[in-house]
Amino acid sequence: MATTMQQLTFISPGKVEWRETKRPAIASASDAIVRPIASTTCDVDQAIIRGQTPFNGPFAIGHECVAEIIEVGDGVSGLERGDVVCVPWHIACGTCKNCQAGIPASCLATPNAAMFGLPIGGDYGGLFDDYVRVPFAGEMLVKVPEGVNPHHVASFGDNVAVAWEVLKQHIDRVPGARVLVIGGSASIGLFVADVAVALGADVHYVDRSSRRRELAKSIGATVYKELPSPKMGDFDIGIDACVDPESLRKLLTMLKPEGYCESIGVYFEDVPFPIFDMYMRGVNFHIGRVNSRVHLPFILDLKQRGCIHPEHAYTATHSYDEIVEAISASAKPLFVRDRITI
Ligand SMILES: [Zn+2]
Ligand SMILES: [Zn+2]
Repeated sequence: MATTMQQLTFISPGKVEWRETKRPAIASASDAIVRPIASTTCDVDQAIIRGQTPFNGPFAIGHECVAEIIEVGDGVSGLERGDVVCVPWHIACGTCKNCQAGIPASCLATPNAAMFGLPIGGDYGGLFDDYVRVPFAGEMLVKVPEGVNPHHVASFGDNVAVAWEVLKQHIDRVPGARVLVIGGSASIGLFVADVAVALGADVHYVDRSSRRRELAKSIGATVYKELPSPKMGDFDIGIDACVDPESLRKLLTMLKPEGYCESIGVYFEDVPFPIFDMYMRGVNFHIGRVNSRVHLPFILDLKQRGCIHPEHAYTATHSYDEIVEAISASAKPLFVRDRITI
């Protein structure tokens, strides 16, 4: 067996390349080795490649994929070679106090922010790589159910899980909620609109991209090119997926009393808030890294029942051989390759 492999490496703004590196091996009984078969960029990856984040290369990039299992450690039960699995972006043990409390993105058994595709909590490789070692595999990996095309759920380990996390709890409290989604990044706002419609919300979607507006309309959202006027009434839930401080400020003033605002774009600098308006109105504001592993069974069930259409967000489909040229040529490219375990 080859001892080296190719790893997709972010070098500098506008530049990624394949680099030869050591092929990962089982290091602990709870590990699995997986091979990504459908990978895509998180919206943050696109910002990294454009040089709009503080993260400097070189490092292995990529944290959204579906993979086939190549090998499992002796301590892994319920998974075997050949299984096709969703891989959460974060590394989490599944058993510590925080994992048990449903916040595996803050797992206590791993360095803070341990994840694939960014070197901020250790180096776990990236989910475009030929092979990836997944710690705590029995707790981390979730099998793709029968009838679900693995290519369609490549984003479930991060961006689609975000949509579920920021909506489900609030729509449970406010059935049929009026939801305002400010889109603008590659996919995440669209995923939110899709999941919100599936959860029975009245969805209003803002985006300057006519392509994304058309997609949102086709799944049942009311669409706008610019933020709707305050005359249109207030919203139960506001989702900031645009990474624009001015739009976020407006969104915070368009909520019903004690409404919910979730910010799912990533800001790297401080953002001013209309704090007195928020005080007078009552605003529940939340921002944070998604606890994907918790949500995977629920969003896979939605997909299996045909309630959501995440595949519409992909802007192109390529082979992994085309990644270097294609990764930033469109907003949400999907990369696929044949399985080797069948
Ligand atoms: Zn991400
Ligand atoms: Zn944990």
